[in-house]
Amino acid sequence: MDTPVSGNTAFIQVILPLRLEWEPYYALPEGFAAHPGDRVHVTFAHKGYIGVVSAVDVEPQAARERILPIGGIAEGLPTVRKEEIQLWRAVAAYYLCTVGEVYKAAYPARRVDEEAVEARVRERLLVRMAKLEEKLAKARKDETRNRYRAALDALRSGKGPDPGPGQEIHLTLPQETAVREIRQAFAAGKTALLHGVTGSGKTEIYLSLAKETLAAGRNVLYLVPEIALSRQLEDRISTVFPGLQVFHSAETVARRQQVAARVRQDGPCLILGTRSALFLPHHDLGLIIVDEEHDTSYKQDSPAPRYNGRDTAIMLGVIQGAPVLLGSATPSLESLYNAENGRFVKVDLKQRFHESADPGILLVDTIAEQRKRGMVGNLSRKLLAEIERTLEAGGQVLVLRGRRAYAPTVQCTGCGTIQKCPRCNVPLSLHRNPDRLVCHYCGHSEAYTGLCSQCGSPLQPLGAGTQKIEEELQALFPQARLSRLDSDTPETQEADIIRSFAEGNIDILVGTQIVTKGFDFKGLTLVAVIQADSLVGLQDFRADERALQLLEQFRGRAGRRGRPGLLVIQTRAPEHPVYVRLSGQPDGRLLQERRLFGYPPYTRIVQLVLRDESPDRIESMGHGLVHDLSAALPDGPTIIGPYPPAVDRVSGRHIRHIRIMLPRDKSLLGRKQTLATTVSIFEKNRHYTGHITIDVDPV
Ligand code: ADP
Ligand code: ZN
Ligand code: ZN
Repeated sequence: MDTPVSGNTAFIQVILPLRLEWEPYYALPEGFAAHPGDRVHVTFAHKGYIGVVSAVDVEPQAARERILPIGGIAEGLPTVRKEEIQLWRAVAAYYLCTVGEVYKAAYPARRVDEEAVEARVRERLLVRMAKLEEKLAKARKDETRNRYRAALDALRSGKGPDPGPGQEIHLTLPQETAVREIRQAFAAGKTALLHGVTGSGKTEIYLSLAKETLAAGRNVLYLVPEIALSRQLEDRISTVFPGLQVFHSAETVARRQQVAARVRQDGPCLILGTRSALFLPHHDLGLIIVDEEHDTSYKQDSPAPRYNGRDTAIMLGVIQGAPVLLGSATPSLESLYNAENGRFVKVDLKQRFHESADPGILLVDTIAEQRKRGMVGNLSRKLLAEIERTLEAGGQVLVLRGRRAYAPTVQCTGCGTIQKCPRCNVPLSLHRNPDRLVCHYCGHSEAYTGLCSQCGSPLQPLGAGTQKIEEELQALFPQARLSRLDSDTPETQEADIIRSFAEGNIDILVGTQIVTKGFDFKGLTLVAVIQADSLVGLQDFRADERALQLLEQFRGRAGRRGRPGLLVIQTRAPEHPVYVRLSGQPDGRLLQERRLFGYPPYTRIVQLVLRDESPDRIESMGHGLVHDLSAALPDGPTIIGPYPPAVDRVSGRHIRHIRIMLPRDKSLLGRKQTLATTVSIFEKNRHYTGHITIDVDPV
């Protein structure tokens, strides 16, 4: 539209889905009305975008004749709520990114084959209905039949969420007490941290509070760290809330829009989702649940905003006036710290629902076993005996190995060369069926010839990943039904494998960290970790905490139904403090250590990451940036770096980290801003834009 801008034209400001530190002005042509939150077509630097009006009737701080008119109102696109923009601004300010980057994450561009999506949605609905019909046919009790019938009707009518009639929840006495304490915390305007051992029934507590909230006519947002988790929960929740609306970040854009449309409607609904569900057009939110709050998958790595879902949930809670409930069996030190200083109220739930003791722990020293001929390949005879006993008793086994693939490394038997990724310089992993060498950082993959790329001698696989462990177990237990779950598993099969294990159709499941998450498996009594040291060996101050959480979580998978469970840990270092602590030391020590060394939560870390093809330039830029930062941030923060991380080259680009530890006091906000400005000026002066990312609270 090339309407000339006349004297009495109105001007607006627009948020663009870009990394742009300001919100450009546009002119409203005669006859157009715009309101904050409207979506508009605009041109910026010769490209077209759909932006969001952030302010109207503004006095432009720019030469009027250079201001472009908008191209028009984006028809059919819903208006963005004031609270949504408020959240974007809060996230941008905290995570030192631009509002536009948050907008882009919240409203990903629509480029999907809509028909295919529609078909998929329909198909899922049909499957769900078929399942319900099956259940209905089997159900005996009238009450149950009515419930299924109502659920079916809700699905058929397409009305979706409907707070009832669902299965009743009967809380145990300790659960009731916990709910009361949580309500008290909410009444006092505080976030509640539910610290409940695995199997204590945290989910029941979430569902009971959710039910209350929905009955009061308000919406509930239920966050989980990962999609795989949400799928099992979906089944469980749908018995309590027929017609539940489920949303998560992996869903297509069209599906997301469908959910967003539902959220926009009136009438209470429950959204189960991963962190991106925080950016739905929420309103009338009465409760936000963050399950497994300690989980590092809540943190978004890339692209910006590099936000933590848990912390953003608290921002959303403030904006929406909704209470927030965090839950975990192993709360993060950050949350424990917040409970200690009174920002959160901690509620403890120490009793398991199916009364059973904590699973026992058997530490197997693989070096000692090796000497005694106690190892068969990568498995100890001690573990094999436990597996055998478990299978004989009709139980199930879950085996954790922190590395996927067949072998994490392959070495030449002639010249000793380790086969490495040409772009990342990290060892390539061997995958079988089909045989390939794969880089786990950039995805580079090449056919496996079995011969050295340098001298042509035969190659030897070193170490064992999940594929190899699966193979060894299958050879030792030929009758057992085995399966594997790691990121090589196609996403479409993930849910099937989990369901199949839950239904007892798999005897032994081998997998990576994904199997430690909050799944509830009835028949599972034995869990085992192979080469546990790969979990604790990381060079990071959080590594021990994370390993402890992971192992505690994993241990909680076993023996949830009254039968005694067992966790077997195969390790080369049985005296490592993590294993010692696993046997029951309080968390206090970890916090003390953090305080002593000035780590978070006692400080805040901002991490700058530089990426560059040129090794010389990254060196000089890194040092130059540290110099500028030291000058801009006098007498305060510790600046560490630039230093190369453990993997210092990915996809042909070198990497350097700079860590700034900021004291957690009144100066924090100002210092973070100064830091961001310094980086931005540095980028401009040195023409280095696009090489530096800022990560606040890295995990
Ligand atoms: P958590 O999430 O704390 O690890 P869950 O919520 O998964 O524990 O509960 C563990 C098991 O106990 C589940 O099978 C759950 O169905 C059962 N359970 C817990 N509380 C109740 C309750 N009040 N009524 C019926 N079953 C319960
Ligand atoms: Zn060689
Ligand atoms: Zn690579």
